[in-house]
Amino acid sequence: MKRLLTIALILLPFLSNAQDHRALHRQAIVIDTHNDVLSTVSMRGKKLDSDLSGQTHSDVSRLLRGGVDVQVFAIFCDERFGKDTAFKYANIEIDSLYEIVRRNPARMMMVSTPAQLMRAVVSGKLGCMMGVEGGHMIEDNPAYLDSLYKRGVRYMTLTWNNSTSWASSAKDETSHTVPNPASGLNELGRQIVRRMNALGMMVDLSHTGERTFWDAIATTTKPVIVSHSCVYSLCPHRRNLKDDQISAIGRNGGVIHMNFNAGFIDSTFDAKMALLSARHKGEIDSLAALKWTDYEIEDRLVAKYKGEVDAIRPPLSMLLDHIDYVVKLIGVDHVGIGSDFDGSIIPPLGLDDVTALPNLTRGLMQRGYSAKDIRKILGGNFLRVFAANQPGK
Ligand SMILES: [Zn+2]
Repeated sequence: MKRLLTIALILLPFLSNAQDHRALHRQAIVIDTHNDVLSTVSMRGKKLDSDLSGQTHSDVSRLLRGGVDVQVFAIFCDERFGKDTAFKYANIEIDSLYEIVRRNPARMMMVSTPAQLMRAVVSGKLGCMMGVEGGHMIEDNPAYLDSLYKRGVRYMTLTWNNSTSWASSAKDETSHTVPNPASGLNELGRQIVRRMNALGMMVDLSHTGERTFWDAIATTTKPVIVSHSCVYSLCPHRRNLKDDQISAIGRNGGVIHMNFNAGFIDSTFDAKMALLSARHKGEIDSLAALKWTDYEIEDRLVAKYKGEVDAIRPPLSMLLDHIDYVVKLIGVDHVGIGSDFDGSIIPPLGLDDVTALPNLTRGLMQRGYSAKDIRKILGGNFLRVFAANQPGK
């Protein structure tokens, strides 16, 4: 009996700690600013409100089980869509989300204002927000911005990997694949940023080139978001932010939401992935010949060679390092989470899918963050910027 008591006393701190992180995660308002499941799954005929375990990182039930209060779903199409097709496609995706929410009134609701967001939190339903990923989806037409805003879209990433006629992307600026790679925002681009400010649609600077980033920071009168990017100093990827950019977000009052993608958090990952790809070159070449895109091919590799991929995935601690870095540089008010789940990403070990999100909260607790600061990171900071972007503020 005495021995049992001793074992129980030894285990107690661990047990109570485990309960603590789950309780804190449950109590916090958890907001993920970027998930691609709508475009990668729902639009391919799979039902987001069915059990997609083993096939995706997320579905409605797992989002709720992972403690997500509000999910911003990316409205996305790639550069193969353009004039007369991209905006139409955006609306079809928006329709698909409305339809899913309509089918699930007991566990989902649309959110387009901070007040609605709080209603979703109180009711325990999954609050569903929308962010357009890629300025090409408005087809150079500012009137389409207004239309998307009316349908509930609350942020737009000025570019995806492709530039628009008015903003250059990180991919094009760094690979010099546009006629004027140093273009940044032109007059139409500045007009679009100002219109977004007036409407209350948050400006998202993930995917934009540095020139566009600085032009947008100089133009916006509202705090911006970076919906799914990490720290360049820790992992020099073109999708991550350099220190001067991070500091600028701090001065702007914005929030950088950390992307869970291994290639953005671990500077050694892309080389390891390249070795893995080299081992399967024949298969990749034949898929490329069938006109599969790079990310479709990578998704196939990840699913088929799971053991090989798991062996090179970084630990969760590396993602926490990015959070620590931003906090040290500009403070805890400017960090959030933008998982990029189901966006052709390979998450770190310990974050296999959205149900593992409490592990992130545990990791933050283990690093000594207070409950108050963890609540800010998990969603409070986004909520502040969302409120500050309301029209008339
Ligand atoms: Zn993206």
